[in-house]
Amino acid sequence: MNSLRTLIRDVPNFPRPGVVFKDIGPLLADPTGFTACITALAAPWRDVPIDAVCGIESRGFIFGAAMALAMKTGFVPLRKVGKLPPPTLGIDYDLEYGSARLEISSGGLGAQGLPAGARVLLVDDVLATGGTLDAGRRLLEQAGAQVVGAGVVIEIDGLRGRMRWPEAIPLRTLLRC
Ligand code: 5GP
Repeated sequence: MNSLRTLIRDVPNFPRPGVVFKDIGPLLADPTGFTACITALAAPWRDVPIDAVCGIESRGFIFGAAMALAMKTGFVPLRKVGKLPPPTLGIDYDLEYGSARLEISSGGLGAQGLPAGARVLLVDDVLATGGTLDAGRRLLEQAGAQVVGAGVVIEIDGLRGRMRWPEAIPLRTLLRC
């Protein structure tokens, strides 16, 4: 994992002063690193029955879709507000600064071709304050899914996002910084 760490670029004062942004661009551009990342993200779930991987817009789509291919499951995108045609099911949540909303087609997972009670794995690139990942979990549960776990590339320890995630659901992160 140390070699993956070198493929994450710290960008101080982005998107606002005082924030150090974790740029995953170099990781995505590196064929060996990106492959190793997806293999490692998928590994903990090898023996867990999963119907679909659900990725959070937008960087969660990149890792989630690649994981779905590696794990031979379907992929369900959780979209930001206003991207899906109505009707939608949505959830509002707080960010470090401001608020946001995630949406899924209101037919829920059924509309995505998955059975009610589908077992899903939630994926995103970064766990910061934890609000986004937990909103994704709550939205999927509202849609009738069983969230069996979450996989995230980078966990920012200092922001304690893990505290917002239910202890009973496994949350696996590749890199902690
Ligand atoms: P949280 O809700 O945990 O505070 O923020 C996580 C969400 O914001 C993720 O969807 C992630 O894409 C984005 N995010 C927050 N901080 C960073 C960062 O430093 N780098 C990247 N790539 N995404 C971030």
